[in-house]
Amino acid sequence: MRHIFESYYYCDICDPNHIKNPCLNLISPYNETYFMQQALLEAEKAFSLNEVPVGAVVVCNNQIIGKGHNLTETLNDITAHAEMQAITAAATFLGGKYLKGCTLFVTLEPCPMCAGALYWSQIEKVVFATRDEKRGACRQQPSLFHPSTLVTNGILEAPCSEILKRFFLDKR
Ligand SMILES: [Zn+2]
Repeated sequence: MRHIFESYYYCDICDPNHIKNPCLNLISPYNETYFMQQALLEAEKAFSLNEVPVGAVVVCNNQIIGKGHNLTETLNDITAHAEMQAITAAATFLGGKYLKGCTLFVTLEPCPMCAGALYWSQIEKVVFATRDEKRGACRQQPSLFHPSTLVTNGILEAPCSEILKRFFLDKR
């Protein structure tokens, strides 16, 4: 069994308790930065469609099992956020509605609607890049996320924030 921690692999042979140094023989290209880059590629697809550029991927066992980008204008649907697309795609892939053991990478802090959907999915972890100071779910108390969901942020914050700024500058 291998564990990802701070973007490195630990292996049971070198470090049975996963508490020492990362096993340099097993550094994986599939780390949190890699998966956030894939979410950013999704955000760029949204940008090219003149949608607010937010992208998301769902990862299970180092494999992307669902991805999506914001499609609220294209689908004329206010629920068509990137996270909702990725959650639905991942559940379809798994053939079940729960995303236990999965991680969602999303370029922008989830809104309360998406946090609610992630709650129902029982997803293990949510990693977002940049904060949404106006609509982000993290400032809500009590938390909108499932109690067993770990929420972290800051991976690729600069480029994920920059694409949003560029989009809204173009709009003016
Ligand atoms: Zn949302």
